[in-house]
Amino acid sequence: MAGPYSIGVDIGGTKIAAGLMDGAGQLQHRSHAATPSGGGAAVLSVAIALIEELRSKVDDGDVVVAIGVGAPGVVDPVTGVVLSATQVLPGWAGTAVRADLESATGLPVAVDNDVRAMAFGEANAGAGKGLSRLLQVSVGTGIGGALTRDGRLERGNHGTTGEIAHLLVPAVGAITCGCGRSDHVEAIASGPAIAASYAARVATSSEGVAGIAAAPSESIALPEVVARAIAGDSDAQFVLQYAATMLGRALAGLVSALDVDAVIVGGGVLGIGAQFSTPLSDAFRAEVLPPLRDVPVLTAQLGVDAPLIGAAMLSIHQGADQ
Ligand SMILES: [Zn+2]
Repeated sequence: MAGPYSIGVDIGGTKIAAGLMDGAGQLQHRSHAATPSGGGAAVLSVAIALIEELRSKVDDGDVVVAIGVGAPGVVDPVTGVVLSATQVLPGWAGTAVRADLESATGLPVAVDNDVRAMAFGEANAGAGKGLSRLLQVSVGTGIGGALTRDGRLERGNHGTTGEIAHLLVPAVGAITCGCGRSDHVEAIASGPAIAASYAARVATSSEGVAGIAAAPSESIALPEVVARAIAGDSDAQFVLQYAATMLGRALAGLVSALDVDAVIVGGGVLGIGAQFSTPLSDAFRAEVLPPLRDVPVLTAQLGVDAPLIGAAMLSIHQGADQ
């Protein structure tokens, strides 16, 4: 185990995780705690406690040199302030993550959107290693994305590069998009959207067959939808295939416009496996312009450690970039 060490922090709606990364890019220690309610200050105080816990694990003579944070919402990577955030983390918008953590720890802090942090890790140490232009997509509770070139994040001047959740798709989702609008890919292909589509479809078909409306509030979590699809439930199979197909078509349009070398797809929904990834890449290949038919759709490689490795790597690279 050798330095220089850095710490990656992943702030989520239910959990805050932190990892101590060594100079070889390996996570040596991990720690996590529940996300407190009470807004940005409460969240940061938990993050600071995790950071200090990991700092105490470093051997005498070695030090932690930087901290990287992946945070939900639109983040200004220069100031480290959260510009906007959804209801996933109430009271998060406006939090000065970088300034507050730098003053609490005395270390340089890099902050970016959580999907971008993951994408940075995948581009440099995961599925995208050695490839130049990448479109990365995370499909989970929401849908996020990032664009990297030669291992660096494309950021744009408004902080939204890669925000693919709000692409219009030719379908009506069972839920409203996180942005409050409709017919966006997040409202069709995110985990909650798939689960809601299934519940709505089951309610409609039981109405048709038995003439009795199912309880509209019936809630079936995504893992149960997947289990039913595997067991042969045709409604479950349909909603998974439909969501994956709409996402694949939307990504094809984007890739035709952006001309990337690979698409890397990760996030909780990809954990479904072939029931989701196969129709996604089939739809992508059918829709993308012919010169791009061989652009691979790759699965993210860093798994559950991706947000921590990505955030820690971001902190190391920030010094070189700015
Ligand atoms: Zn939207």
